[in-house]
Amino acid sequence: MHSPVVSAPPSLPGVADSVLDLIGETPIVRLRALSPAGGAQVLVKLEGRNPGGSAKDRPALSLVRDAEAAGALAPGAPIVESTSGNTGIGLALVGRVTGHPVVIVHGDGMSPEKLALLRLYGAELVRADWHAGPEDPANPRAVADRIALERGGWRSHQYDNPANPNAHYRYTGPEIWRQTGGAITHLVAGIGTGGTISGTGRYLREVSEDRVRIIGANPAGSTYGGGAPGVIRVEGVGSTWPVSHWPKNLDTTVPHEIRTPTDEAAYTAVRRLAEEEALLVGPSSGMAVAVALDLAAGLDPSAVVVAVAPDSATNYLSELSR
Ligand code: PMP
Repeated sequence: MHSPVVSAPPSLPGVADSVLDLIGETPIVRLRALSPAGGAQVLVKLEGRNPGGSAKDRPALSLVRDAEAAGALAPGAPIVESTSGNTGIGLALVGRVTGHPVVIVHGDGMSPEKLALLRLYGAELVRADWHAGPEDPANPRAVADRIALERGGWRSHQYDNPANPNAHYRYTGPEIWRQTGGAITHLVAGIGTGGTISGTGRYLREVSEDRVRIIGANPAGSTYGGGAPGVIRVEGVGSTWPVSHWPKNLDTTVPHEIRTPTDEAAYTAVRRLAEEEALLVGPSSGMAVAVALDLAAGLDPSAVVVAVAPDSATNYLSELSR
């Protein structure tokens, strides 16, 4: 092997070597105005502070690194994914730095802000029919599979690939434990692929010897809470699939409980967080905070409830400013 012709410049203290080094170590803030009087304090982990703007930067990096190490993703080979959200942005960011072109297959439901971010990161956007069934060639997963096959690309399979929950087990969980000095008593996280709740929740249960309770936040209309499939307005969470098709990354032994707030509760929490705490978070964050506030009202003041806020309101400005 030849050594690279251009040697890396010396690293400088306090300077990140690339944007990838800025993923994780997100802040946690206490809700001063909204934590219920006489109840538990509610803390929010602001995952929107990741460089790509969401918690999904963490699994995106872990998925790509694992695939490179396993030889599944060759140097310079394209990353192809069907996603209507933050995973695409995370992959676009990671692909840009690691030298992989990124193709994102998307549907109608993606916010214009997220599409704009993908374009800025230089991702190629391919539109598919989000309502096409699994057998239909216009189905987004079928389109992504075809493109990956044609171009020698790699699919991340974020719903089933253990690198997704592992990123949260290795980083998100330990960060929350350290930041709260082990005082966390309850974790609330939304469920999309299940990566966040399964990885973070598993770590917190283990490290606390099962003292920390894990509560899933799941939108009305999603089958994860045991209800019938319906329309889901909050982006990034919930599923309308039957139990038999739930993602492998949703480890149902991790959450002690799953609560199902309404869309109104989620959007009300988003507005209250902006107005009363000056915190800008997205609808799925509002959903987790709505559950956390409800829970905290019935708990002792010594309890510490941490809600994961997966992204920021800046991803939804056109919707939220209406
Ligand atoms: N909220 C938003 C906005 C998301 O993009 C996601 C990821 N799909 C989630 C919540 C849920 O996270 P997870 O996939 O780890 O369950």
